[in-house]
Amino acid sequence: MTYTLVQGAYIVAGLLFILALSGLSKHETARMGNRYGIVGMAIALVVTVIAAIAGTKSAGAVVAEGSGWAGAAFIVPAMAVAAVIGVTLARRVQMTGMPELIAMLHSFVGLAAVLVGWNSSYEGATAYPKIHDVEVFVGVFIGAVTLTGSIVAYLKLSAKIKSAPLSLPAHNAINLGIVGAFVVMTVVYTLVPSSDIATRQAILGLMTLMALFLGWHLVMSIGGGDMPVVVSMLNSYSGWAAAAAGFLLNNDLLIITGALVGSSGAYLSYIMCRAMNRSFISVIAGGFGVEAGTSAGGDTDYGEHREITAQGAAELLEGAHSVIITPGYGMATAQAQHAVAQLTKNLRGKGVNVRFGIHPVAGRLPGHMNVLLAEAKVPYDIVLEMDEINDDFPDTDVVLVIGANDTVNPAAIDEPGSPIAGMPVLHVWEAKDVIVFKRSMATGYAGVQNPLFFKENTQMLFGDAKDRVEDIIKAL
Ligand code: NDP
Repeated sequence: MTYTLVQGAYIVAGLLFILALSGLSKHETARMGNRYGIVGMAIALVVTVIAAIAGTKSAGAVVAEGSGWAGAAFIVPAMAVAAVIGVTLARRVQMTGMPELIAMLHSFVGLAAVLVGWNSSYEGATAYPKIHDVEVFVGVFIGAVTLTGSIVAYLKLSAKIKSAPLSLPAHNAINLGIVGAFVVMTVVYTLVPSSDIATRQAILGLMTLMALFLGWHLVMSIGGGDMPVVVSMLNSYSGWAAAAAGFLLNNDLLIITGALVGSSGAYLSYIMCRAMNRSFISVIAGGFGVEAGTSAGGDTDYGEHREITAQGAAELLEGAHSVIITPGYGMATAQAQHAVAQLTKNLRGKGVNVRFGIHPVAGRLPGHMNVLLAEAKVPYDIVLEMDEINDDFPDTDVVLVIGANDTVNPAAIDEPGSPIAGMPVLHVWEAKDVIVFKRSMATGYAGVQNPLFFKENTQMLFGDAKDRVEDIIKAL
């Protein structure tokens, strides 16, 4: 396979990745976007492996250049095993487990970048040894931060460790100190002669350990409510780690793909920070500037809550002209989206104006609720973003809060000391009646008590969200 052919295929794959990103930005075109991505990745994999086997120069040293069929004997079985693991995981994973899976996959990208960097440091000099040294350092640093950061994100998202933020004394100084030390060590590394292997490996080893600690510390310092931004931020880091590996492997497509993932992830993090009214810098710097002593409202007495039955809820809905449904993580765990879609259809059939209000971080991954509602075939035109619907609550008869908690919590507005203070929320309490579907009085992901449950116009409908929605459909 000639070099030109490989580069041509890489350009086609790169264009398909750009089309994939553009497709994924809208509900209607998301499936098509996914297909572009799959085709692009298939081209990228096949061409890279063939080029490596054929020993095509500069096509990317996935297998050592010119390693021929001996190299294929390693890479093809490894890819087959990885493909089986990937397909099995993807088929098994529940939608609610996606963020953990994604976090885990990001950690693999980080690990790959660390290994590629270390390998490249042994391979040593190219035409530009100092630039190569910087590439090794940057690749290993970003990779190591991504590796441990993603593992902590995985542990927090799967509730294997507490999601509350860790606040070490002088945690900002620790982070800044490590970044400063990284810069100094990079310069020192480039100045140590390449013949002094022991010193170079010692500096690289120390830097790797520091970067692994930094990744762990950055994500440990982020509180539950800010995890959505961390997930997309690690997505971005994994892109930059891949791009760094692309420079080291001399693979143009890996650089392009890494840059696409890195920049789109960074932009998504920025959008999510804006949606949550958080400072972008503060979140990427691991809770930089977060005030100590925030209160989760656990001790506040909000009074008594009131309960309603499915029959009572059906009666309220029968008399309503306008209804807004605000789904959250509980709708996903209950897999209630099909029942909710059926209820919507029934109510619309009776002339009720039913719409959905989607909070940007509802659920456990960006777009979680939109994906579930699309799967249940809820028409796109009645699914509105938070900003589009927030002014309409005062003119709404009934709001159904289905498994949402943090995203409808008025403490974000009323309690400046709350960990979620300042985060924009859906103003559901401004409607005439609010029905909250959940199984208990437990808090949501951020671990903050919700005063909505105790308001006069709120009634709790306890139980599994799917069962309760089905009960209402029967009663109607
Ligand atoms: P929350 O996680 O705040 O609350 C979900 C609620 O659903 C719980 O209070 C729970 O109460 C209820 N629930 C769980 N299972 C069921 C069930 N089977 N039937 C009925 N109710 C159920 O949800 P939100 O969507 O409002 O908020 C999302 C939170 O997740 C935010 O804090 C956000 O920052 C965070 N997050 C979001 C990410 C994203 O990208 N979207 C990523 C990571 C975190 P009970 O146990 O009593 O039933």
